Parts: sequence; C-alpha cells; structure tokens
Amino acid sequence: AVRPLHVIEGPLMDGMNIVGDLFGEGKMFLPQVVKSARVMKKAVAYLMPYLEAEKDATSSSHGRILMATVKGDVHDIGKNIVGVVLQCNNYEVIDLGVMVPAETILQEAQKHEVDIIGLSGLITPSLEEMVHIASEMQRLNLDIPLLIGGATTSRIHTAVKIDPKYANAVVYVPDASRAVSVAGELLSPERGESYVKSIKAEYDQMRTQREKRDTTRKTVSLEQARANCFTDDWENYTPPVPSFLGIKAFDDYDLQELTGYIDWTPFFHTWELAGKYPAILDDTLVGAQARQLYADAQVMLERIVTEKWLTARAVIGFFPANSFDDDILVFSDESRDDVVAVLHHLRQQLAKPPERPNWCLADFVAPVETEVRDYIGAFAVTTGIGIEAHVQRFEAAHDDYDSIMLKALADRLAEAFAERMHERVRREFWGYAADENLTNRELIAEAYRGIRPAPGYPACPDHTEKQTLWDLIKPDQNAGVEITDSFAMYPASSVSGWYFSHPEARYFGTGKIQRDQVEDYAQRKNLEIHEVERWLAPVLGYDT
Ligand code: SAH
Repeated sequence: AVRPLHVIEGPLMDGMNIVGDLFGEGKMFLPQVVKSARVMKKAVAYLMPYLEAEKDATSSSHGRILMATVKGDVHDIGKNIVGVVLQCNNYEVIDLGVMVPAETILQEAQKHEVDIIGLSGLITPSLEEMVHIASEMQRLNLDIPLLIGGATTSRIHTAVKIDPKYANAVVYVPDASRAVSVAGELLSPERGESYVKSIKAEYDQMRTQREKRDTTRKTVSLEQARANCFTDDWENYTPPVPSFLGIKAFDDYDLQELTGYIDWTPFFHTWELAGKYPAILDDTLVGAQARQLYADAQVMLERIVTEKWLTARAVIGFFPANSFDDDILVFSDESRDDVVAVLHHLRQQLAKPPERPNWCLADFVAPVETEVRDYIGAFAVTTGIGIEAHVQRFEAAHDDYDSIMLKALADRLAEAFAERMHERVRREFWGYAADENLTNRELIAEAYRGIRPAPGYPACPDHTEKQTLWDLIKPDQNAGVEITDSFAMYPASSVSGWYFSHPEARYFGTGKIQRDQVEDYAQRKNLEIHEVERWLAPVLGYDT
C-alpha cells in the first residue's frame, strides 16, 4: 500500500530535487523556486495528520539548520527566502524569527542539535551582534558552522570581524542560491573538513590584504579635515523658509497615490533577479520570470490598496537650525535662543585631492556665527501598519510566496512614500521648488535640489542619532513607528531621515573615522569612548 510518507519522499521530493538542481544551475529563478516550495509545503501540511504515527518523517533530511534575525533587527525577507530555498533542498529549517537574543539562538541550537546556525541582519548594529554571537559560540566551545547573511553583511566584514572570533567554520552567504551549496559543502562527510580549511585560509588572506591597504591609505587629522570643509558664500545665500515650523502628521495616507512613486528595480533584486526596471522585463535571461513576478506584484498591490491591507502614516517637521563645527544646533523657535536638539555628524578623514572638501552633513547648514537663518527638516514614514495579520494569514496557509511578496511590496511602498513626501516637502511644505515637476525616473535619479540622508547610512552612519530624530518629531506617537535597541525601525517597512535644502547638499560616505574624531565625537555626545566605538564599529579606521 502507498503510505503518506511515500508521497512526500517519492514524487514530491523528486520534484523538489529537480527544482533545487535547476536553481543551482541557474536555469530556474527564485520566484519559481518559492512557488514550487509552496506546492510542497501545502501538500506536506495536508498529509501531516496522516503522518503523525510515522515519526521518522524527517529522517531523510540533509541536515538541520537554525535561522534567526539577530537581536535588535526586524528584517526577515532575506532570511525567509534562504529558509525556503534550504527546505526545497531537503534541509530541515528551524526559524526563530526576528529580534532573537544570542542566548536563545545558542540554547535552541544545542537543544535541537542543529548542524548549522544561520544569522541574518539588515542594519549595521547587527554586524556587532553577529560578532558577539560568534564569540559566545567560541566561549561555549561549539563546533556548529555559522552562516552570515543579510544586506549589510559582507565577505570582508565576515573575514575581518567575525571569523577571527570563532575557531570553527564561519561562512558569508551572499544570496539564497549560494546557501544550498555552502550547506552542502559544510555537511559533506568527504569534503566538509577541507572546505572549512579553504574558507578559513581565504578569510585569513583577506585580512592580510585589508591590513596592507589600511596602512597605505592617507588620512588627515580632524582639525585638518575641518579646515578643508565645504563652505558656501554664506553672506550671499538666503536659505528657503519652510511654510511652517514644528511638526505635521499624516494619518492614513492614500496608498493609491504612492503606487506611481515605486522604484521597481530593488523589488527585482529582493527576488534575486538582476537588472534594471523596466529593461529587466525584456531581458533575454530573466525577462519571462520578471514579467510573471511583476504581474503577480500588480495583482497583490491592487488588493493592498483597495482592501486596505496596509495603513500609511508619516510625520515631518521643520526647525530653525545652524551648524556649529560638525554639529547642527536645532532651535525651538526663530529667536534661536533655545537649543532643543543637537545633531552630531561625522566628517571624512581621508586625504583629498585639491579642491575636494572633506564632507560633513553639518556643512550644508549655515554656521551659527554667520547669523544666516537656516533650517533643517526631519521625517519618518511607514507603510507597515497592519501587515502582521496578513503575513500570519499567508504563513498559516503555508504560502511563503505571498508572504514574501507582501513584505517586499510594503518595503517598496515605504520607499515610495519617502519619495512622495520629499517631493511634497520641496514643492509645498518647505516650498523651495514649487515648480518642480519630475517624472518618477527623474525622482529615482535624484534630479532635484536637496537630500534626505538616513541615519545609519554612509553620510551619517551612527544609528544612535535616530534617538534624536525620535525625540524631535516623535514618530512613535505621531506615526506609529518604534525603534528597537539597535535602532531598527518597526514596522520594518519604514523610512526616516533628515531634510537638507542647500543646493550643494549631496550624499557621500564618511569613510573610516580616526581616533581623534571618535574622541571629539564622544565628548560632543557625552558618551564613553568605548560606547561610541561600539556604535561606529563599521566605520572605525583603527583597531580598538
Ligand atoms: N529609490 C530607492 C530609494 C532608496 S535609496 C528605493 O526605492 O529603494 C536612497 C535613499 O537612501 C536616499 O533617499 C537616502 O535616504 C538614503 N541614502 C542614500 N545614500 C546615502 C548616504 N550616502 N548617506 C545617507 N543616506 C543615504
């Protein structure tokens, strides 16, 4: 007689093996894989009640893998994708979800005797949390391989910062298609040991190269960098005056209005389809997949809007402001007597060719001694309110495809909201570009005056400055956006930042920060140096 287990281990697994192989060979793409997994998961769920008696149902798994988004971080699209792909390839995945403390990860790993631990994170503080977990694994003498993945992680960071902390395997996994082969190598009885050795050797070599490069880079002192700051002819510059000062909140913003502002290129990247929208739709390799994915996205987007699956909220604020060295003083009102907040910024310390300044965001606001009346803006937007119920609905139906699709679309809508709000700021609320009329393509290319740098990103890499933004415009009360202890925003589909109106304002990366600046910065922020060093770890130009 055919038993339920045979259905799974026979035709279903055969099918998944083919999907897994084709994906590995680059002949099938992620959206198809996730859809195939949906068929498998639904079928297994159906058969489950009949399987209860046969406890060895998972005995044929290639191995057991624990997956978690680290403490302080709420992003899980990438982790979920990797989880689905591993399951397709016959790994058992134990997913602990998001914001998982190190202790929980290590306890669960030991309890379930997992073969691999996979960590994920999107924001830079998560990098330090991963270093911490690796150290803990060493302290506990574990021999479980560690996989590192997520948007801010990289091979070089894994090699330089994480790998040295743990004597056993640490492997950076750039995307879902690589996760399967890495897991396969790590757990292979024949090749496992030599694979780990080769990775260790590769990371060791990367560390040596990095050290050489770091010592050949010319840096300047903070004092020298400040002397080479950007300055405008402030006497002859009149900053635009916002249409209001203080805070303005937007409840239940029209989602339909936002759909036209979506930048679709990152959406395809989320699904690991490489290329630029709209050209990707006609790509010879992935075009057909891209069109199918895009069509599915349009169907769900329509339902998100008409059935109001998500609620969009925002808060913006404008304040009188002037710079003071690398800080921006925010005043309560036009008397400019009361400083209500100080925004602390960092300055590039790489030696620059002639005529090129050592950029710092504070330079884009008129210095206090000029007595020029300048301003700064702040914003937070979200389109993630209400998402949980729908995600749970999809997960209960074993539908990872729709769950991932919804999260990806919510992220796109949040970025679109940031784009639309910034446009309204330029045209109405700050009002310095009332006649601006750009296409979505031009908006994406940033063909407008002013910038909206986001704390945690290269021009302002210190995530703790989000606390100041939260104190100033209170996105938790005014827009329903919270910050975690690592300064990740929750709901995940949220964007925040500062508005600068100066025509020369631009994005840049601070690059590596030297000890003299860290000491100065710690003093300005009234923090211990080691605390600042922890938050700035990804941009420190020296060893602590
Ligand atoms: N069209 C893109 C927009 C997001 S990326 C999308 O839909 O995904 C661009 C945003 O990232 C900018 O608006 C800014 O908020 C932030 N950003 C980019 N480069 C930055 C930098 N160097 N420093 C600070 N923020 C930056």
